[in-house]
Amino acid sequence: MSGQSDRIFEQLKKNGETPLSRSDLNARDPGIDAENFSAGVAVSAMTLEDVRRVVAWCARQSVSLVTQGGRTGLAGGAASSPGQLILMMDKFDSIREIDAASGVAVVDAGVTLSQLEDEVRALGLSVGVDFGARGSCTIGGMVATNAGGAEAFRHGVMRQRVLGLEVVLPNGAVLSDLKKVAKANEGYDIKQLFIGSEGTLGVITGVVLKLVPAIQRGETALVAAPDARSALAVFQQLRRVFGSELLAAEIMWRDYFLTTAGELGIARKFGHLQGEVFVIFSVTENVNADDFLETLADCMERDEITDVVIAKNEQEQKGIWQVREESFLIDRVYPSGCWFDISIPLSSLDEFVRESSARLRALCPELGIFIMGHLGDGNLHYTIASEKPVEHLYKEISKVLFAGLAEIGGSFSAEHGIGSEKRESLVEFGDPVKLALMAAAKQTIDPQNMMNPGKILKLS
Ligand SMILES: Cc1cc2nc3c(=O)[nH]c(=O)nc-3n(C[C@H](O)[C@H](O)[C@H](O)COP(=O)(O)OP(=O)(O)OC[C@H]3O[C@@H](n4cnc5c(N)ncnc54)[C@H](O)[C@@H]3O)c2cc1C
Repeated sequence: MSGQSDRIFEQLKKNGETPLSRSDLNARDPGIDAENFSAGVAVSAMTLEDVRRVVAWCARQSVSLVTQGGRTGLAGGAASSPGQLILMMDKFDSIREIDAASGVAVVDAGVTLSQLEDEVRALGLSVGVDFGARGSCTIGGMVATNAGGAEAFRHGVMRQRVLGLEVVLPNGAVLSDLKKVAKANEGYDIKQLFIGSEGTLGVITGVVLKLVPAIQRGETALVAAPDARSALAVFQQLRRVFGSELLAAEIMWRDYFLTTAGELGIARKFGHLQGEVFVIFSVTENVNADDFLETLADCMERDEITDVVIAKNEQEQKGIWQVREESFLIDRVYPSGCWFDISIPLSSLDEFVRESSARLRALCPELGIFIMGHLGDGNLHYTIASEKPVEHLYKEISKVLFAGLAEIGGSFSAEHGIGSEKRESLVEFGDPVKLALMAAAKQTIDPQNMMNPGKILKLS
């Protein structure tokens, strides 16, 4: 244990807490970021009172606090360092209420996405948000990162899903805004400040979420298309014909698709497919299978589709989805690559990917560019890697990749947040007036800079 963590551990014990030491933490999964447990000391909260007590202790002792949910975040937001205290929220996990008539759930922040989805499914409802980390990510973490996922093109990101919040502020006050209604015009919408704040303004303890009717998945097709423009035309046609019955439109470029399928040992199944991009289209069970096939056949006649695989059963559906969800397999083949999470307006998507890929190859011809993401809202995830580690090129690669993005109305930070990884990019690509307002909000709410310092903003 480092001296600092040791001291914090002993002081917490004196204060009646039951902290976790570095060796306790070593026995646990640190999650996605190797730095998550670097503080070497943690406390676990189970109630609002626990959070208030720990926050008050941190304020008294001038110890900064890093709140963690499921530790699945992909922007380094939950990373900690010696001298800090980790506040674990995953045991603060009761579902407070499911109000089926109003279509809302009121939950503790530590409830996982799967836990809530299972609970509301039984009542014919769904959270309306889904992604691969569903078994571990917490609702509090999803709010703190303003998570998106595969259904965001249908129901929006967390900003559009949250009706109310309960937050413990650095001064110990509790913001209790647990509204269950969509319409509540009561001045500034302060809860929005905490959505996407990545633990830098307060600890989210309770969340009211808007639910949607549960829908059963029907047909799933893996569509190969000559380019992203054609894939987009298919997406738009399916939306026109099936409207909200189109459940998913997840895109993968060829290099990503074949590398991941190769790692899964199923590349042979798909090796015959011709096309530069692949898209998983899923519709609800309300869509007639023949209508779905006919619409895809029409697209094929217009040369927007080169090949289609229709999943014949649930196992085949899973196999197709696995290629999309096991995105970390790229890192197994090419460790030490760089990850990016960007949003591009759909009208510019094809051109942007082509031009940025050409720029990246000009920067370094050996770079492999592995792209996949959520076609419905233009959110693409890039892994840029090569046979040799390229982490040291992160700055140069990001400059090249982000060039022109703001001008076309896109964003260099789509759904994973800023954390520590994109803090410098925020300074470079963010609007200076917005940055000044963000710094003022941080200063007002957290004048001691106690909540997850150094994430999102670096205060001078
Ligand atoms: C396989 C995989 C797939 C993924 N797919 C997607 C995807 O499609 N879309 C997407 O948006 N994300 C995705 N993610 C990223 C990740 O799951 C989300 O960012 C998620 O919202 C993080 O939740 P968490 O509970 O794990 O938060 P953590 O990782 O623990 O924390 C993330 C940030 O939130 C803060 N935080 C956590 N809990 C609280 C709280 N109660 N109060 C205040 N601050 C808090 C932390 O301080 C940190 O800054 C994926 C991750 C993985 C591993």
